[in-house]
Order: sequence, then structure tokens, then C-alpha cells
Amino acid sequence: MTDGSDLPICHRCGALMQEKGPLFFMVNIEAYPLPDMLPMDPRDIEGDLKSYIEQLMDEMRGLSEQELLDQVYRRLSILLCPICYHQWIENPTPVS
Ligand SMILES: [Zn+2]
Repeated sequence: MTDGSDLPICHRCGALMQEKGPLFFMVNIEAYPLPDMLPMDPRDIEGDLKSYIEQLMDEMRGLSEQELLDQVYRRLSILLCPICYHQWIENPTPVS
């Protein structure tokens, strides 16, 4: 159990979390589409919603269960060393 492979490491830089070392940070990310993105006025969606749903169903037909899940909801946990954490939390959505 001490070959190091099961020790927690920073998912960004690979730094090893050490006993009595600096505290690492667990970042939990949840992502899901906002239903509010749909047009809310019923007068706007009468025709649109039907074709929107049909289009959605068409797109979903070829997907596996996992792919469907990935499209609607994702949850992941990232372990970060203090250096990476402080860099990330100041700029969590960098423009690439
Ligand atoms: Zn790091």
C-alpha cells in the first residue's frame, strides 16, 4: 500500500499530497443545461418547441446511455495542490 500509486496527487501538476504537507483542495464541479434557455413565452414556442423536441429526439436516437448522461449532467471532482488551487480559483474560466 506504499508504492505511491494510491496516494492523492494534484490533478493539474501532479504534485504529491504529503502528510503534514500543505493542504490540498477538492473541487467539485456540477454541470447541467439551464432549462431557462428555452423560450418561455408560449406564443413563441408553439411551433418552435415541437420542432425543437423533434430535433432533440433525432439527435438523441444515435447516442448511448452514457453519452446522453454526459449531455445533460456532469459531475467531477478535482484535487488541487495549494499552488494550482490558488491559480485556478482566481481564474476558473480562462479564455483559451
Ligand atoms: Zn498542483
